[in-house]
Amino acid sequence: NNEEAAARAAAANADSGAPTIFDKIIAKEIPSSIVYEDEKVLAFRDIDPQAPVHVLVIPKFRDGLTQLGKAEARHGEILGQLLYAAKIVAEKEGILDGFRVVINNGSDACQSVYHLHLHVLGGRRMKWPPG
Ligand code: AMP
Repeated sequence: NNEEAAARAAAANADSGAPTIFDKIIAKEIPSSIVYEDEKVLAFRDIDPQAPVHVLVIPKFRDGLTQLGKAEARHGEILGQLLYAAKIVAEKEGILDGFRVVINNGSDACQSVYHLHLHVLGGRRMKWPPG
């Protein structure tokens, strides 16, 4: 289907190091609805929300982290900061009692943007297992 084809195309481009749409969001060249921002991390609403709350948490400096599968030991600090930012987002959005954090890694997981991002989802009852 279309989603799979798009994910495959994105994956084929993943190692090129090409800028992604998230660079433009970080540079504020295209608008986004920012929920949280600090020196290292940006969180903004997903343009195609899959739950009443759907926020993406990204590192401002990709530094090779096109996807979680490219993580190295030196990324430990930013990985921790991203996860902590996910908690701050959940708190701000009033969903601390129930929320989900998702990372899609690679084409089989339907990753479509090759700049690491955490999805923070909530505001409804989540199903398990995810599809
Ligand atoms: P993934 O499929 O895990 O790579 O997630 C990428 C996410 O980025 C998708 O949920 C998209 O809806 C979202 N997205 C793509 N472009 C934008 C944008 N301009 N603003 C906000 N979210 C976006």
